[in-house]
Amino acid sequence: MSAQVIDGKAFAAKVRGQVAEGVNKLKADHDLVPGLAVVLVGEDPASEVYVRSKGKMTVEVGMKSVEHRLDADTSETDLLAVIKSLNEDASIHGILVQLPLPKHLNEDLVINSIDPAKDVDGFHISNVGLLGTGQKSMVPCTPLGCLMMLRDHHGSLSGLDAVVVGRSNIVGKPMAQLLLGDSCTVTIAHSRTKDLPDVVRRADIVVAAVGRPEMVPGDWIKPGATVIDVGINRLDAPEKGEGKTRLVGDVHYESAAAVAGAITPVPGGVGPMTIACLLANTLTACCRANGLPEPEGLTA
Ligand code: NAP
Repeated sequence: MSAQVIDGKAFAAKVRGQVAEGVNKLKADHDLVPGLAVVLVGEDPASEVYVRSKGKMTVEVGMKSVEHRLDADTSETDLLAVIKSLNEDASIHGILVQLPLPKHLNEDLVINSIDPAKDVDGFHISNVGLLGTGQKSMVPCTPLGCLMMLRDHHGSLSGLDAVVVGRSNIVGKPMAQLLLGDSCTVTIAHSRTKDLPDVVRRADIVVAAVGRPEMVPGDWIKPGATVIDVGINRLDAPEKGEGKTRLVGDVHYESAAAVAGAITPVPGGVGPMTIACLLANTLTACCRANGLPEPEGLTA
């Protein structure tokens, strides 16, 4: 195996440390405590796990953590009322509505009811537009985490060929915007892309955000390229015992690591960076809300 492993777990710990420092400084200098509110509707087990670990890490970096757990049959009116109260609450600087929402709720309507300045997921249409036009915005956490790791590894990304596989609103599209913002030449590939292996082979940077286990093999990777694997896929692992599973990415790790210059593992790559960037966004939102300088290196 030749690739340098990009350790997302260690990187995320470093980012959380920087956030904690920023929080301490806000407290000491301005008597301010950043507050993050997470709204969970229903009892999706995966969402429960995410919400719990978000709450724990929010407290660990010294922020105020608020959780609103609503029944699965909560009406849109009631959910919008909760968001309105959080929008108006000066002690809350970040609001995250855990997705997916139950089917009877209109996700776009709900997300767009969040005050864009508190939209720490960066999914509000205003933030999408600001990012697309190169203006200061709240940047979606997963692509922001990928960008931080890429900048750390490469220094400048200017002029590099980047291929993003996947065009979702939460990962693929904002990732492409961020890479473009850093002057990469960006291709967005998707399920209708012709000759996908050849497209990926051109890339100095490959970001895979597809949701298909181990879809990108090593022989699609240009020797020396940097591979960021966003995918989180659970496969049966009978070798670990009955009913056991294991996590794999969208990239076939063994074969890709043999040719890539650098690669993120799954687990321990992009995943830990997502919550770290959520905390970074909350700190940034708190600084902006109070007219204070933003912490350096924690946003795009
Ligand atoms: P998504 O909304 O399902 O989008 C998947 C994208 O992949 C779509 O644009 C789709 O193309 C494309 N695609 C599907 N099959 C393809 C194929 N055979 N060839 C090329 N492109 C193909 O997924 P997502 O929300 O972006 O998530 C992607 C993966 O990242 C998932 O595994 C998810 O669990 C993971 N994820 C991880 C984190 C993290 O914190 N690490 C955060 C978010 C997501 P079309 O648009 O043409 O259908």
